[in-house]
Amino acid sequence: MSKSRLVTYACPYCGKDFEATIYDMINVEEDPDLRDACVSGDLFRVSCPHCKKEFMNQFPLVYIDKPHRFVLWLSNDLPGSSLLQISKPLSDIGYTLRRCPTLHEFVEKIEILEDGVNDVLVELAKYDCFIEFIDNKKGTAEDVTSIEYQHTTNGVMKINVRADDKGMSFHIPIAMIEEEMAENEELFEIDNERFPTINGDWIISLYQDAAGEA
Ligand SMILES: [Zn+2]
Repeated sequence: MSKSRLVTYACPYCGKDFEATIYDMINVEEDPDLRDACVSGDLFRVSCPHCKKEFMNQFPLVYIDKPHRFVLWLSNDLPGSSLLQISKPLSDIGYTLRRCPTLHEFVEKIEILEDGVNDVLVELAKYDCFIEFIDNKKGTAEDVTSIEYQHTTNGVMKINVRADDKGMSFHIPIAMIEEEMAENEELFEIDNERFPTINGDWIISLYQDAAGEA
């Protein structure tokens, strides 16, 4: 069951207080509408009834998708003991457990895991796209504003590298990335039970650590 409660906000614009709903837990199997509200960002959009201004409010959230077998912890903080208590049994039956510090990562993670794609592969593919973008002199590292997973169709992943005025789309066969990962298997090992954060910073830290040890 999804769990929500009312909280009091102070509007950052007019300073007046008002009440709004936040969720502690979402079960998308029972509340598919809430899944859509997460992906659109509406769940986190707050509208002040006094001055009518809108703002985004990210709150800690446990997001459970039973059909696709994953649980996301949306928070800047590490998971607490209640979440870690259920992590081993969930991991044992094949659930992917992840922590997402930002809303952007949270939404992308939902899309990746709903597609049934290994998100470690996605981050490796995104990193490769970034390197290729630079190597092809399409722009410098500083030009890149984001690297975004789009979708996977017939075993081919589409990734967009965005830069200020120019971007580039990449189509990457999953089999190719799987091969690359197999060559360096222990580098990509993660502890699923600890709700690891698998994002761009994570993959960069892997290569930096590997370079540091060499
Ligand atoms: Zn207001």
